[in-house]
Amino acid sequence: MNPENTAKLLAIYPLLYRNLRNQDFECEDGWFALIWQVSADIESVAQLEGTPKTAEAWPSVGVLKNKFGSLRVQFDGRVSDAIEALVHRAYERSMEICHLCGAPALLMQVSNRRTEPLCATCIEASPSNPENPRPLPVWMQEQNR
Ligand SMILES: [Zn+2]
Repeated sequence: MNPENTAKLLAIYPLLYRNLRNQDFECEDGWFALIWQVSADIESVAQLEGTPKTAEAWPSVGVLKNKFGSLRVQFDGRVSDAIEALVHRAYERSMEICHLCGAPALLMQVSNRRTEPLCATCIEASPSNPENPRPLPVWMQEQNR
């Protein structure tokens, strides 16, 4: 994620991302809106659940990255089922959002070992992809979960 978007997330959700302050968000900028939204939702739920806004109690994201073309968010310590459900929904949504530009996308196989959610425009614009991306068969999409 570019430094500007990273700085925005850290500025608005400093407590949620307190353990990622000196690290990069390991994904591209197309998911920025998705990450922004899930961050806001996590904080809303934590507040509704009466979580004290302290470094000891507030949810803390320990891992946020693109893995196999989907958004993975893991917390340091336990969070409620409601918050886990939000993260799971973002994970499912991420596979339908182009990770480069944020447009509607399909999960594409870009090489033997890599799948990425890409929109038609970004596929066109990326001749650097060694192989022609093609949609994954459904059973392989399942396998990546
Ligand atoms: Zn795109």
